[in-house]
Amino acid sequence: MIVAVASGKGGTGKTTVAASLAAKWPGPLVAVDLDVEEPNLHLFLKPKLSGIETVTLEVPDVDEEKCTYCRKCAELCQFKAISVMGRAILTFPEMCHGCGGCMAVCPEGAIGVTTRELGVVERGVARGFIPCLTGRLRIGEAMSPPLMRHVRAAMVREAAPIEADIVIDAPPGVSCPAMSAVTDSDVIVLVTEPTPFGFYDFSLAVEAFTPLGKPMAVVVNRAGLGDGRVYEYCRERGLPIVTEIPYRRDIAEHYSRGLVLAELDGAMGERFAALCRALKQRAEEGVHA
Ligand code: SF4
Ligand code: SF4
Repeated sequence: MIVAVASGKGGTGKTTVAASLAAKWPGPLVAVDLDVEEPNLHLFLKPKLSGIETVTLEVPDVDEEKCTYCRKCAELCQFKAISVMGRAILTFPEMCHGCGGCMAVCPEGAIGVTTRELGVVERGVARGFIPCLTGRLRIGEAMSPPLMRHVRAAMVREAAPIEADIVIDAPPGVSCPAMSAVTDSDVIVLVTEPTPFGFYDFSLAVEAFTPLGKPMAVVVNRAGLGDGRVYEYCRERGLPIVTEIPYRRDIAEHYSRGLVLAELDGAMGERFAALCRALKQRAEEGVHA
């Protein structure tokens, strides 16, 4: 079972929820940080690092000795990552998606392959028994989905032998990286806060994720703030609010010390243990429940 913890906007408490689920999950689990532009799940789970793998993308490397400047490669590339100007050919590796189309279409076999670094995948183990994977995009790199694909493949390899469930800390928002992070999930947890900004971005996330046809469940963080629009919207859409996290000073202080919220006290521990059970049930019920 794969649980993706997502949110319409950053700062709603998505990582707080993901870390607490990892701490309270009943049975084997792999914790995965797919928020590759700003990973921070490790700040709470504090895994002991066991390895770092560099992830690269194959990009074109043109041999101008062979090139006849026919433009076929430039006409094919939808990303303007290769361009022919008179008797000069330019490549823009930062814009290349690594599809390999230009290499396939070149009649002269003039396009070879070089690589550009996308980022790294860090492996570690938290608390001695929770395997953790963290995708970390190279500073300045714009394309996160290819790195995320790599992390997703790694998480499946990690989970399969130990028959583990997976909790994903997804990127915030509803752009390509967020969609890519929830694609494989069995249930999507949407973390929101009952403020006007929180409600607006939450409703965008619901609209974006609904066509994926996956069960969704809502966690309301900082409950007690704002107004009732999140609650009303969930009621109208039949979206279950599976837990609320109160707006309290002791919770904020616990978070600011990099501690796992589920371990604040016994009541909070039970709250997240119940959340784990509710998510398993939600995944089993499917999208029509
Ligand atoms: S398709 Fe090959 S030969 Fe034609 S412009 Fe591109 S690199 Fe040169
Ligand atoms: S590999 Fe694909 S994206 Fe990159 S330059 Fe070639 S055609 Fe464009």
